[in-house]
Amino acid sequence: DPQKMEKIVSLCKSKGFIYQSAELYGGLNGCWDYGPLGAELKRNLKEYWWRKNVQERDDILGMDGSILTHQAVLTASGHVGGFSDPMCDCLLSKARLRADQIEPQTGTAYHYTGASHSESGWSVEKPFSVLIDPSANQDENKARKTAKQYYAQFLSDKQIAPKKLELAGETTTEEVDTTQYNPENGSLLTEPREFNLMFQTKMGASSDDNDPNAVAYLRPETAQTIFVQYKNVLDSSRVKLPFGIAQIGKAFRNEINPRNFTFRSREFEQMEIEFFCRPEDGLRLTDEWLEARLSFYEEIGIPRTKLHILDVPDGERAHYSAKTYDIEYEFPFGIQELEGVAYRGAYDLTKHQDHSGKNIEYFDEETKERFIPHVVEPSAGCDRTVLALLCESYEVEDLTKEGGKKDERTVMRFKPCIAPIKAAILPLLKNKPELVAKAKEVQHLLQPFMNVFYDEAAAIGRRYRRQDEIGTPFCIAIDFETLGEEGPNGEDLTDTVTIRHRDSMEQERVAIKDLLPWLLERIR
Ligand code: ATP
Repeated sequence: DPQKMEKIVSLCKSKGFIYQSAELYGGLNGCWDYGPLGAELKRNLKEYWWRKNVQERDDILGMDGSILTHQAVLTASGHVGGFSDPMCDCLLSKARLRADQIEPQTGTAYHYTGASHSESGWSVEKPFSVLIDPSANQDENKARKTAKQYYAQFLSDKQIAPKKLELAGETTTEEVDTTQYNPENGSLLTEPREFNLMFQTKMGASSDDNDPNAVAYLRPETAQTIFVQYKNVLDSSRVKLPFGIAQIGKAFRNEINPRNFTFRSREFEQMEIEFFCRPEDGLRLTDEWLEARLSFYEEIGIPRTKLHILDVPDGERAHYSAKTYDIEYEFPFGIQELEGVAYRGAYDLTKHQDHSGKNIEYFDEETKERFIPHVVEPSAGCDRTVLALLCESYEVEDLTKEGGKKDERTVMRFKPCIAPIKAAILPLLKNKPELVAKAKEVQHLLQPFMNVFYDEAAAIGRRYRRQDEIGTPFCIAIDFETLGEEGPNGEDLTDTVTIRHRDSMEQERVAIKDLLPWLLERIR
């Protein structure tokens, strides 16, 4: 379905999963807010990751570091000097483009455009600030058309002199300023230059703009906080190699072109483990971590068949990494990275030892050796995984019966452990006080243990469909049999409820007294 991504974006807004940040004021580019359901979904993902990696393992400890980061930390790690993407400026539009998004043959960007995409369609941005990459967008023709319209408008507003310009290999009828035109490659783009992706900020009340102690950064990854606290964790918890430190937290990158919904954001959350080991174990552990991470995705509902493993070739890995795997997922907009599993050797700790001048070696009590441990890093993106879960779970199911009228249902097939709402509690009728009272009783029984939702409005069939759309795995109906009326075969169903399963739509009867353990077993 070429419209799949748009439909997901639209469902995310209408159901309360994800909204554009500051939408009321036109939106803050590259930033997103999670609504009531999105917040639950994301929290479930993080809790599951933490449970599997920290709680259920003896060899990994958690930490939660500060976001504001000392300049020296990021100088040592190489981020201040080198954490950048090559960027070009479009002289005509003043847009900033990532060099890797520029058509290599013609040297032109796919589109000079003022059009940007949101779930409500294509809209204008302040003059030409967004690049549309056809390879990443299914709705290319629409994009081209709109882009061209605004482009033509822009040219006429600026009264730019005529000259033909290539757009993604296709000659447009619009004309451009000849003085800016480079006949060598037909482009209006400057030579690429490095653009540092870190957000810098000022700390304290220092009025001196050049005071280096007043400069801090929003961390571009959670990893460095772990490296600089590795020695403290080691000393305070007396762990032995191999061991890991895990962290979930925000990271910030001033991405040149945020795009693909939450996929590339400027503010995002990471789930990272730095797993410290003896040098001789590094490569083996990298392979083991890859397997462990693939199983994790399977458990949360992203099947292996939709994941691709990229064994990053020589020359494309970071210079200190002897092995890196990218775990990629088949998003509707293409196969893209979800997580990196990188063998970083002793690079980071060595850098921090050199720059700080403090010894942070590991002492092996058995062999009496001192050395800097090596590290394997499984680094996952929380928002990207949420996006993958949304894409993977989304289905429009055709339930039309032969000869019957068209019947479709939208269903989010979240695994119960991830689903934002675990169970919906539905009294058959809202105007029967006994049904409502019993339903409230069931709600109060479950509420301390899980996120449930009480709904009494509309016919029960419609209420089921509403829950399907937000991925609630179980619907609990309280009916007259619950209150003591005889079942269809004369059986006594007092104090039992109907549980309707989201995926199969099948129903079964469960006693209220067994309900809590029944659910707990299935939602873990
Ligand atoms: P990319 O090549 O997509 O920019 P990266 O290789 O720079 O990603 P890493 O530095 O390895 O990413 O970061 C680890 C993980 O953090 C990524 O696999 C991804 O899930 C997440 N991540 C990185 N940048 C972003 C971003 N801008 N928005 C959302 N998630 C991100």
